Amino acid sequence: MFNFGVVYNKKMKTLSILGSTGSIGTQTLEIVKNNPNEFKVAGLTANTNIDLLKKQIDEFKPEAVAIMDKEKADLLKEQVNIEVYSGIEGVVRISVLDNADTVVNSLVGSIGVRPTVEAIRKGKNIALANKETLVTAGSVVMEEVKKNNADLMPIDSEHSAIFQCVNGEDIIDVNKIIITASGGPFKSNSKEQMENVTAKDALNHPTWNMGNKITIDSATLMNKGFEVIEAHWLYGIKYDKIEVVVHPQSIIHSLVEFKDNSVIAQLGLPSMKLPIQYALSYPKRLKLNMKKLNLLEVKNLSFEEPNLDLFSCLRYAYDAGNLGGTMPAVLNAANEIAVEAFLNNKIKFMDIPRIIKESMDSHKIINNPDLNTILKIDKDTKENTKKEIDKL
Ligand code: MN
Repeated sequence: MFNFGVVYNKKMKTLSILGSTGSIGTQTLEIVKNNPNEFKVAGLTANTNIDLLKKQIDEFKPEAVAIMDKEKADLLKEQVNIEVYSGIEGVVRISVLDNADTVVNSLVGSIGVRPTVEAIRKGKNIALANKETLVTAGSVVMEEVKKNNADLMPIDSEHSAIFQCVNGEDIIDVNKIIITASGGPFKSNSKEQMENVTAKDALNHPTWNMGNKITIDSATLMNKGFEVIEAHWLYGIKYDKIEVVVHPQSIIHSLVEFKDNSVIAQLGLPSMKLPIQYALSYPKRLKLNMKKLNLLEVKNLSFEEPNLDLFSCLRYAYDAGNLGGTMPAVLNAANEIAVEAFLNNKIKFMDIPRIIKESMDSHKIINNPDLNTILKIDKDTKENTKKEIDKL
């Protein structure tokens, strides 16, 4: 039902932004800056980039910040007169600040799990860009979301699209979710070409401009695999009802088919601004200054089936999701280490899926794991994968 004159909660949202100097973090701060009556900042965290963080502190006046790097944190302490925490414990402190009501988690990797869970337990709402959180610990996170009646809003073009398509619908009426994938830079490569691609080739994404780790995940299609697992948790939908379709133009961000065969899609130019802003403004919509979609300029929308033999990471993600328990945590941990090794030119591109497969094959699944079990498997898998790579 279309609702005119809805009375929205007028309260301003106060954000803690984890990963504020990265791609999602800086875009989130732009949205804060453009909507000073909607959002303000309580806390920020960065990995190592204290120069940019210092500028953000001057502009957005958070009450506290955290830097992962201890030495950098000490350097920053001398330059500012607010609380400066360090390490993952510092990041967790920023995620549970009393004055923050919403935590934007744009960390990279499974390091994002603990700040998410601790924030939910403290009654915060989450705007989640950190994919590895739900991939690694989806069962635990969703249980905490229910227990604490938290809002978990996705910051990802696909999940934002799905959210907008199912808004006001009953999830029981959904036949299937269709997640679109750009296909990445190697969509048309042969197997031989794939063996020889470099980190530089892989970092050259055709439609999206993102951080290094996620760009490699996009090139292997692991990113799409992660999105399948996230969709499973976010929308409580079985894996055989989640389909991936390659759509190189990245204009349709995802689709939902209902039981009456009606298909609803969400469209827009490829930009993370909308998914970020919508995650923060929901149920409101706010104006957004960006280039608008013009269908006559797009002309052509095309679709293909993903090649699971060449992009086996996507297949392994479905496998890990279906196997359940601790297997998705292993998929993610092995991928994190393999991607890092590839970015450092230690392994070849096609070693990434090989290494992940080996880790999964040697893992004995633990069902219904608690948070500590998941974090231990994450740590052990990362250590073992590093050892395997050193042997290569
Ligand atoms: Mn995405």
